[in-house]
Amino acid sequence: MRNANATKLSRRLFLGAAPAAAVPLSAETAPTASFPGVQFYDQQERKEVLDALESRSLFRWYGPATPNKVASFETELARYMGAKYALALTSGTAALHCALTALEVGPGDEVILPAWTWYSCYNAIVLTGALPVFAEVDESFTLDPEDVARKITPNTRAIMVVHLFGSPADMDRILPLARSKNIKVLEDAAQTVGGQYKGRRLGSIGDVGIYSFQISKVITAGEAGALVTSDPAIFERATRFHDLGQLRPGHKAMLNQPGADWFAGLNYRMNEMTGGVMRAQLGKLDMLLGRLRESATSVRHSIAGLRQATLRRLPDPSGDIGIHVAMLLPDKAARDRFVAGLRAEKVTAGPPSGSVILPVVPYIEKKTTPHRLWPSFQSARGKALRYGAGCCSKSLQIFDRALSIPIGPKYGQAQVDAIVRAVRKVDASLPA
Ligand SMILES: *Cc1c(COP(=O)(O)O)cnc(C)c1O
Repeated sequence: MRNANATKLSRRLFLGAAPAAAVPLSAETAPTASFPGVQFYDQQERKEVLDALESRSLFRWYGPATPNKVASFETELARYMGAKYALALTSGTAALHCALTALEVGPGDEVILPAWTWYSCYNAIVLTGALPVFAEVDESFTLDPEDVARKITPNTRAIMVVHLFGSPADMDRILPLARSKNIKVLEDAAQTVGGQYKGRRLGSIGDVGIYSFQISKVITAGEAGALVTSDPAIFERATRFHDLGQLRPGHKAMLNQPGADWFAGLNYRMNEMTGGVMRAQLGKLDMLLGRLRESATSVRHSIAGLRQATLRRLPDPSGDIGIHVAMLLPDKAARDRFVAGLRAEKVTAGPPSGSVILPVVPYIEKKTTPHRLWPSFQSARGKALRYGAGCCSKSLQIFDRALSIPIGPKYGQAQVDAIVRAVRKVDASLPA
């Protein structure tokens, strides 16, 4: 049954019929550090979603109309990040899986990753069949280059550098190590979208970079991710892997001489509603980062020279996105007292969240895989490798001493002053 009224979806159906359309997207409440991206949802995101719905073309490659939101998002993201190519994906985890596969990481290979990061980093390595090898982090909460050097073996295929908690890792010390041994560098900038290292966007510095747009990250469509690279071979393999192994005409045209053969891939394609929301969010990223950085810098300057706490080391302070002000206390007991003190002053603070010390997670320590013959741990080296607290004592110690004050993008002078006052008061009140 087709008739003109039913097939031509009018704007009224969406905008007029639903009473919810009159309700503002965000009610004004006290500024919060939770979910930064959604705090700036407005008519732009609404229009992007409605455009996609009304076009009935929610699939990125074809439909009743001509979809272009995901494709435009890829072009805009590549430009913003200073990379040649960007690939829109369903999550940061999917992006890690595509990136590792694009780097030809697989059974027999080792991938070095920080002991302190997110489950996805380890899981994606195991899902390629490769062996995850943990390296310690240092007082920057990112990879300790000296420990990375110790963990390199002839089988090391890639180093996964994670720019944790809004700060870049020490790229100038990690890149030369990798380059000298022909090891690939994957940058995980899931938590640091838009951050920089010495003027270059994170994700565009190594061989391939990934981002997450899950709701807790800087900009968001609730669930989404992306990958960037300037290497056409890596882009081609990642693109094939995200779409069943094939290359659609739109991507084929970008790679004027596609070289790889079809191979088995998955489906990690982004849809048009998500692409639209991400376009709107990307357009707000500089504004959002400007707000975060202003508050974080102001807090950091005003709490210099504390008795108990030291600020987290930032490998490039100007590239930090300001999403946290993190500090280190002498030990866990002092950290816990400091957290309790800040909370008593009504300041949002806590031990680090949204990341974990992976080697002590039970399924990782036990090396549990999706199948008992999974290749990651079948080699002599894979069988001999021990995870658990013994492989990451330095990271565990730093994690236990760490304190994070998350910064909200709508924080103003009042919130900055309250944080500074509370930090100074708690620091002065604790036994030296
Ligand atoms: C969130 C996160 C991911 C995974 O992103 P998802 O979009 O949640 O799949 C990967 N790495 C790090 C460091 C993250 O924080």
